[in-house]
Amino acid sequence: MIIRKSAAEIEKMTRAGRVVHGCLQMLAAAVRPGVSTAELDRMAEDYIRSHGAVPTFKGYRGFPSSICASPNDMIVHGIPGETVLDEGDILSIDVGVTLEDYVGDSAITVPVGEVSEEAFALMAATRESLGRAIEQCREGNRVGDISHAVQAYVEERGYSVVRSLVGHGIGRDMHEDPQVPNFGAPGKGPRLVAGMVLAIEPMVNAGRYEVEMGDDGWAVYTRDGTLSAHFEHTVAVTSNGPRVLTEA
Ligand code: MG
Ligand code: MG
Repeated sequence: MIIRKSAAEIEKMTRAGRVVHGCLQMLAAAVRPGVSTAELDRMAEDYIRSHGAVPTFKGYRGFPSSICASPNDMIVHGIPGETVLDEGDILSIDVGVTLEDYVGDSAITVPVGEVSEEAFALMAATRESLGRAIEQCREGNRVGDISHAVQAYVEERGYSVVRSLVGHGIGRDMHEDPQVPNFGAPGKGPRLVAGMVLAIEPMVNAGRYEVEMGDDGWAVYTRDGTLSAHFEHTVAVTSNGPRVLTEA
């Protein structure tokens, strides 16, 4: 069941989204060679709680941390740890925040120091595919229009979109209906109506789309060991077009 949100609920989600955005900005500025992902996690939890919010991920199905930190060939769901970042790594950071009972969810992939041209191009293409997807978040379109926008942009550049993980509706719960795949045919799937709020999150692999689970039961890696990037925004469908809730 797709739960549509009132204007007042979307305002609450905007406040949660601002905390997510501020947290990601703070983390992006802190990422550098020598920093551990556990340090980033502590900074994020302090930031979120100091804004009167709760880190949604902590305790979610037993997840132990406030952020997901997924370097290089890890696609998503990395548990922060004592391993330090190296020059040339890329790091996907995913943040979820609950404020006034509503959730905001957003992710970015950032370079650690100087990165290869290939890594930079992958991040840029993934971010752009999210922008194209957001453009499709309009009344009367369908979820498949979002999915297709990501897939078409990404595959034209020789990358692949992960199939086994998808975006989602979001509201009081982090994961609501509908699922929002990053692949699919335009004109298919649920019709978009004002009040729907979607977390759109392309996960793009430099190589093939197949994934492999890590030993901790959380981390998801590219099976072929190639780099992966991840960008996500929480977006409301409104009568005035798409409204991104997880930015300034
Ligand atoms: Mg997320
Ligand atoms: Mg999400």
